[in-house]
Amino acid sequence: MMGSISIWAATRPRRPRPALEGDLRVDVVIVGAGITGLTAALLLAKTARSVAAIEARAVGAGDSGGSTGNLYQTVTGGLETLAAKCEADTARAVVASRGEAIAWIEQQAQAMGPSSGFRRCPMYQYPLSPDAEPTILGELKALRAAGLDAQLASEMPPGLPAAKGAVLLLSAQAQFHPIGYLHALALQAEHAGARLFENSPALELDLEVGVVRTRTGTAFGHHIVLATHSPLGFHLVQAGMAVRREYGLAFHEQAVPAGIFWAQAHPRLSVRGLEANGKHYLLCIGEHHETGRHDAAAALAQLERAAQEYLAVGSPVQRWSAQHFHSPDGLPYIGRDESGAFIATGFSTDGLVYGTVAAHIITDQIIGAQSRWSSLYLGSLQKTENIAR
Ligand SMILES: Cc1cc2nc3c(=O)[nH]c(=O)nc-3n(C[C@H](O)[C@H](O)[C@H](O)COP(=O)(O)OP(=O)(O)OC[C@H]3O[C@@H](n4cnc5c(N)ncnc54)[C@H](O)[C@@H]3O)c2cc1C
Repeated sequence: MMGSISIWAATRPRRPRPALEGDLRVDVVIVGAGITGLTAALLLAKTARSVAAIEARAVGAGDSGGSTGNLYQTVTGGLETLAAKCEADTARAVVASRGEAIAWIEQQAQAMGPSSGFRRCPMYQYPLSPDAEPTILGELKALRAAGLDAQLASEMPPGLPAAKGAVLLLSAQAQFHPIGYLHALALQAEHAGARLFENSPALELDLEVGVVRTRTGTAFGHHIVLATHSPLGFHLVQAGMAVRREYGLAFHEQAVPAGIFWAQAHPRLSVRGLEANGKHYLLCIGEHHETGRHDAAAALAQLERAAQEYLAVGSPVQRWSAQHFHSPDGLPYIGRDESGAFIATGFSTDGLVYGTVAAHIITDQIIGAQSRWSSLYLGSLQKTENIAR
């Protein structure tokens, strides 16, 4: 039967947590239990800080659980585009910071066992129309300039669409089952001493006093981390970001080789395989659609047509959608702003890795440690000061 929840939520059972009740005093209150909030909860709890993560819905119910579960050093908008907007060494630093985050995820996944679904795999970028080939060749050049060992491959692996031009191959990227990983991460954070609360939307924040109020409880913290993906209603940084929606479809299929398969430019189609509960699935994510300016049913139908044309699949067994947020310069906003809150947003469709980077930066800032990457992403945050009040 067709579902409107993601394939990830449909293939991993969840373990419910209580809502926040009454008063709670901790060192750090984290609002949101996606990859950013849970990673920060684990890292901070390991430094012996008392931590509470307060989630409006359930662990992983946000974008992390609606993603494709791909972990790559490059960025969806293209490293060539990013390099053109930023200073000389920025693209190199971005891929290095993202590479460290993927290695950290791999370490956690090794302790989690198979439920995280983590595997190292190659990434392929290829054109589905000849006029998209220059994008692939531009990307190859930008990846190499940023220090990555990108190569040209002769063709796409079997079971994937035939390329209409050059195929870019980037080895040693990764993918996981995002909900499987987040559930295990939540357990690790709890094991380290963090407390997690679900069904507890933060309704009011007082950053001066350090208070987060929900319907049934109040959490007091020396530090407040807004790991809400978009700090909508709490922070004006939201006003400077473009918001787009993407749709996902899952099909029962023959096994697809492990890998990240991106058809670049037009049409845009991201494909990966998944093996869960003894079944094989093929997942497709399509074009970006401007939020509020498209027809959801038409967007889903367009993606289904593209999947059927290029992959000869049947009818989808699961469909879902999620939103992403884009900063003007293509870099996320991560760190402490003038109001004293810690924010982590503007991840585009790259936030499983950026969220992990963000949690490390914010943890370092809270505990007073040096972070190699904070100035890289704080620079972007400082540009928002005029709108962050
Ligand atoms: C279709 C799609 C595919 C994607 N694929 C990939 C991919 O393959 N790789 C990749 O790296 N990135 C991908 N992304 C992007 C990535 O999913 C996100 O950037 C990332 O998950 C953001 O993580 P987060 O923890 O910051 O936010 P979220 O996972 O959204 O978590 C935020 C949490 O905060 C909670 N919350 C919000 N407001 C409140 C409140 N007031 N009180 C309490 N809780 C609150 C939400 O319920 C949510 O659970 C994709 C995005 C989309 C849309």
